[in-house]
Amino acid sequence: MASAAASAKVQVPDIAAQVTHAMRVMGVPPIPRNYELYYEAYIGSNPRLTKELAALGSRATQEELDAIGQQYFSQHHRPIGIDRAHQSIVSQLTDLLKLLREEQNALETYNRVLGDTYSNITTKSQTSSELLRNAITIISEATEDTMSQGKDRVENVVQKSFEMEVIRQELDEYKRIANTDSLTRLANRRAFDEKLAAIFTSEQTRATTGLLVADIDHFKKINDTYGHPVGDKILATVATIIRTNLRRDQFVARTGGEEFAMIITDSTEEDCLAIAERIRNALSITPFKNSKTGVNYGPITISIGICMGGSADDAIDLYNKTDIALYCAKNSGRNRSMLFEDGMKKESGKSWLIYRK
Ligand code: GH3
Ligand code: MG
Ligand code: MG
Repeated sequence: MASAAASAKVQVPDIAAQVTHAMRVMGVPPIPRNYELYYEAYIGSNPRLTKELAALGSRATQEELDAIGQQYFSQHHRPIGIDRAHQSIVSQLTDLLKLLREEQNALETYNRVLGDTYSNITTKSQTSSELLRNAITIISEATEDTMSQGKDRVENVVQKSFEMEVIRQELDEYKRIANTDSLTRLANRRAFDEKLAAIFTSEQTRATTGLLVADIDHFKKINDTYGHPVGDKILATVATIIRTNLRRDQFVARTGGEEFAMIITDSTEEDCLAIAERIRNALSITPFKNSKTGVNYGPITISIGICMGGSADDAIDLYNKTDIALYCAKNSGRNRSMLFEDGMKKESGKSWLIYRK
């Protein structure tokens, strides 16, 4: 049974890739509960579920997907794939512990046999050749027994760790999907929130980390003029330009419709401003011309707000202050980077957030 389970699980990384691909093609948001639905549909565990999902066609709404999820899975449509992987780990660990315990028992028995034999030899003053022969037989039998049992157990342990590795890969895949924005392949808002909170785990990190929030200027006009698909392509290109102008170890996420956030570690305010300007300039000189139609969508520009962790009390405060700096950059004419300063405010208490989707 263990080997059947193992061979079924060995397929998982491939299935995961195909499921993710299908979801992307169909425009399904890459969240765990959707993944669960498409995964079950893909492996055909319930033909009715597969049929109903197929009937939705592409561009199904989240409500429609959730309705199917609630019907076929638990009441709350929990991410049961993850639950299952956890249960699997628990049962694998229990088996592994049992094996190790058996191994310990076998060694203890073996030790006892050796101990008994030793005391037999030493307590008898006259060591007859018969006694010695018996002792050798007992020891060699015990040794062979232990060795063959030991070999089986080692094989079992290897098999268990292999199965656990497959489960670990499965969980990593869930995590990757849950933390990635499907359009730009950057990290998403969920991953960003985790990273942002981590800035405040140490004073040192807080003082040397800056947050940059970039928002594309007049993006609505691009969508209105050229259509949403063109807007999507531009978003993906902007994401690539930001990524290629950052060091690999610096974090960038798509945090909203046309908003990107960067967490710049080991840096000063000046470093952050220089990085923001480098990205802003790189984008402003990038041609956005359709080579087939000759239409020029550009120039595409961004405004960037910057704030250092040291100027904020916590993650929410840091995000708000960066947002105020971004608001000021927009208000001062767009296509510019601005550092947060004390006293900076949003006009008449208006929040930049009201302009966002
Ligand atoms: P501003 O310079 O003040 O930021 O102006 P804006 O037009 O960029 O800002 P606004 O918030 O008015 O509009 C943002 C637009 O971004 C509206 C929406 O159509 C578009 N948008 C948001 N998410 C997506 C997306 O995933 N794809 C596409 N194509 N457009 C998106
Ligand atoms: Mg915008
Ligand atoms: Mg915006």
